[in-house]
Amino acid sequence: MPPTLPEILPAAVLFDMDGTLTEPLLDFARIRADMGIGPGPILAALLEMSGPARLAAEAILLRHEDEAAARSTLNPGCRELLATLSARGILVGCITLNSRESARTVFERHRLPIEVIVTREDAPPKPSPEPLRVACRRLGVAEADTWMVGDGRYDIEAGAAATMRSIWLSHGRSRDFEATPWREVQDLWELSRMLKEFE
Ligand SMILES: [Mg+2]
Repeated sequence: MPPTLPEILPAAVLFDMDGTLTEPLLDFARIRADMGIGPGPILAALLEMSGPARLAAEAILLRHEDEAAARSTLNPGCRELLATLSARGILVGCITLNSRESARTVFERHRLPIEVIVTREDAPPKPSPEPLRVACRRLGVAEADTWMVGDGRYDIEAGAAATMRSIWLSHGRSRDFEATPWREVQDLWELSRMLKEFE
């Protein structure tokens, strides 16, 4: 019978930030309205702008991100999960579309032990595998020994593109995208329990 879990623990686990480590931070509808853009990816819309309009829109986005980071709340089980990983010597990284400044604010606010943070200033956005590869290089681990955890389809697609095991955090929702995660968990507590199965 094939094993249901890999025989060894991962060398590193990479997490999405917004909606995964933290409760959802950003009100995307409000940001789009303030920036004066329609539906669709916000960063792509920003890249299509130029001159003063782009600078103004970018300033609005950064303000929203900074405000959200300053009042961010961790998802239940986050601190315990990170402690479980740390106790096993598993490295932790974060891959986020947010700005470096706002990611730093979140991790300092909650004093989270994160070894590597890859933000939109460092690499193209998920679903590109590139930010995940950047994190692996900085951590000195192989993609094959790394898990990618996230609550969005881009997290799972990026994990697949980087040939990593991916874990989708469902929050009890049913999956509305094609990419198949390696595992699915309802919350971060379930991921902690999964790691403890290795003991
Ligand atoms: Mg997310």
